[in-house]
Amino acid sequence: MPYWEESERILATDLGGLCDADLAVSAQRLGASLRGLDSPGNAAEGGEIERVRLIEAEAFALVREAARRAIGLDPFPVQVVAGLAMARGRIAELPTGEGKTLAAVFPATLHGLEGRGVHVLTFNDYLARRDAAWMGPVYRMLGLSVGCVQEGMPPEQRRAAYRCDVTYLTAKEAGFDLLRDGLCIEPEQQVHRPFHMALIDEARIPLVIAGAARDDRDGLFHLADLARRLTPRIEFDTDSGKRNIFLTERGIMHVERELACDLFTGEGVVIQAALRNALHAEHLLRRDVDYIVRRGCVELVDELTGRVAENRHWPDGLQAAVEAKEGLGLSRGGSILGSISLQHLLRRYPRLCGMTATAASAADELWDIYGLRVVVVPPNRPCIRVDEGDLVFADRAARDRAVVAEIARVHRGARPILVGTASVEQSEQLAGMLQRMGIPCNVLNARNDECEAEVVAEAGDLGRVTISTNMAGRGTDIRLGGLDERNRDRVVALGGLFVIGTNRHESLRIDLQLRGRAGRQGDPGSSRFFISLEDPLVRRAGIDRLVPREHELQGTGGLDSRFVRPAIEHAQRVAEGECFDARKRVYEYAEVIERQRQQIHERRQELVERRSIPALLESRRRERWAGLIPSVGEPTLHTIERRLTLAAIDRCWAEHLDELRMLRDEIHLVALDGRTPVVEFTRAAIAAFERLPDRIDVSVVELFDSLEVTDDGVSWEALGLRGPSATWTYLISDTAFGANPLRTLANHASIGLFAVLLWSPLLFGWGLYLHWRRRRARARGPAQAEPSDTQQEP
Ligand code: ADP
Ligand code: MG
Repeated sequence: MPYWEESERILATDLGGLCDADLAVSAQRLGASLRGLDSPGNAAEGGEIERVRLIEAEAFALVREAARRAIGLDPFPVQVVAGLAMARGRIAELPTGEGKTLAAVFPATLHGLEGRGVHVLTFNDYLARRDAAWMGPVYRMLGLSVGCVQEGMPPEQRRAAYRCDVTYLTAKEAGFDLLRDGLCIEPEQQVHRPFHMALIDEARIPLVIAGAARDDRDGLFHLADLARRLTPRIEFDTDSGKRNIFLTERGIMHVERELACDLFTGEGVVIQAALRNALHAEHLLRRDVDYIVRRGCVELVDELTGRVAENRHWPDGLQAAVEAKEGLGLSRGGSILGSISLQHLLRRYPRLCGMTATAASAADELWDIYGLRVVVVPPNRPCIRVDEGDLVFADRAARDRAVVAEIARVHRGARPILVGTASVEQSEQLAGMLQRMGIPCNVLNARNDECEAEVVAEAGDLGRVTISTNMAGRGTDIRLGGLDERNRDRVVALGGLFVIGTNRHESLRIDLQLRGRAGRQGDPGSSRFFISLEDPLVRRAGIDRLVPREHELQGTGGLDSRFVRPAIEHAQRVAEGECFDARKRVYEYAEVIERQRQQIHERRQELVERRSIPALLESRRRERWAGLIPSVGEPTLHTIERRLTLAAIDRCWAEHLDELRMLRDEIHLVALDGRTPVVEFTRAAIAAFERLPDRIDVSVVELFDSLEVTDDGVSWEALGLRGPSATWTYLISDTAFGANPLRTLANHASIGLFAVLLWSPLLFGWGLYLHWRRRRARARGPAQAEPSDTQQEP
């Protein structure tokens, strides 16, 4: 095993004689020598490598001593080996439950000592919080500061967390902060420091759809609520075909009274349009007929086929209204202010490494996209888990009956069971069947990471039955006999944790992760998959044809199918290959956009930091400029121009992104006449980007022309110029690249993702309305309540 000898040397170092304060002093001394190197860390070359290796060994020995003292864990050799691999820019593969969290502290400390920040990218917010708290004492004993970033944290707290030597957070938060920083007007508003190093915990990061828009939906929710309360045929009516809906005279009066506005002038028109969408959504579109709600998203049902129409949306406003009606996050609307793919986000870190339980099956991809090599570290104690052959059933009903029967059988002996399912629906169905048989179980579906972690932690105790979807309780370790191992001996005698898989995932890694929940750190355990010939992967693999006809698959016995396993694994490799191609395509398309983003960002950043002073208006609008000097003064005029230029850049960049998005949707057509879409896309994107500087200039002049400068100052709001606090963020999957959308849904864990910052015109309209309502309320006197502002930091 590579790094083995080094690891032994490190573990042979005895620092027991040093007092706690000495540890910190030694660590800080190492930090100073690291900062003195030309190219510290794994980038070192030639004679410096020697010195770096010495510092590395000393730092690791310090971490080991601090871990013993501060949190009572004595690192295993395999943890030191994994730490060394990571310190040198590799992905360390270490099985579940072997202690990756502690292994990460070695490289994070080494690079954290350089004082330029290390991001440990965790799977979810809960783990960021948990790991920062759990490992914090080790870092602090060595004089390093630790922080964590959570969704919804205000900017000051984020900034403070990023100033720490080591920061635990999700890639999503790091990405959104990067995008939001790209919209700031002053350097003080930005939260990130320049990126230095990222350590990825679980090499692939799952996709989260429609994230943090919660606080900004109020306006639409209010309208959805209002639409619900209006009386049919009296306050609103529909045409005979039920295709259109409109307010009656009485309805208009009701709405105008309630919203204190005039629906036919100014901003009221915007409200009216939004209200019409709300009425349409509430009274003309029926849930489970015209659309369904699945995985927190509204999905349209095709009128003709009665099936879900993939990738189809209503016009933006209506889509948003339906989402508001269903109380969901808003998924569309507005224009993109910035986007970055996960791969590009990670590539922005000059140094990258990671750890995972199952990387080797994705090694090619990690190398291709991230340039990372995988080092496989064996478990501390050999794994004695027994993986039994898959059982195959004719259909899902037979499979479910068999799963329930098996659970009942094993549960009688009180052996703990963990059941992995593909979906929330399946979990609930299974739980229902168990409950009817009087078998109590816990159902987890990744809705609440924190509570689920607690349940999963107890999943190894006597008599437990836990049903969980793939994502639930990730990163939590299952100890036999419960968290405090009170019943460990009895559970060991029963054979340890029994893991049941209810279908094979498209990605072998996910299956392995599920199996890996049993047999941690040399524990006994076993696993078995129950599959149905109706499962999509099985169908695609043509396994139904492999099963001999004479086999009676209907019973609960099933077919023990050691021989279908190679076929399934072949199908998984094919499916993973397709996903990899899809991700690579996402990456290729994003490549040109990313280069352009960096250029724009650089230009913007120069303005933000006042490294460049724009001087366009003085020549293009000579008269107005000169006319304003006496009243406003020249410095203010320059400030105005600076802000207008920033706004123009953001606006034109957003338009550019929109244009590219449309281009990308259409570009696959060029494949029809034999050209390569991605090449054509890149060509067109470059051409569009070349026009951008002129468009920005024109936009600056236009903004200046429409700017009102009065004695009170400048009315930025009237121009819709707002900082990043007024934008909202969410993640989307990108299916516009010819990837099978079903596949994308089924395979959240592995699709490239875009972080998107939005600026919604509708909400903007709503903001205007509130502004106007406040004005009106003031005019009418204090009796009118002030509406709350809908524009909040996401
Ligand atoms: P992983 O992320 O690899 O699945 P964790 O970091 O969650 O594993 O750790 C799994 C369990 O192993 C934790 O309960 C932790 O306390 C324990 N553990 C980790 N390192 C050690 C060690 N050196 N000695 C004893 N227990 C350890
Ligand atoms: Mg972990």
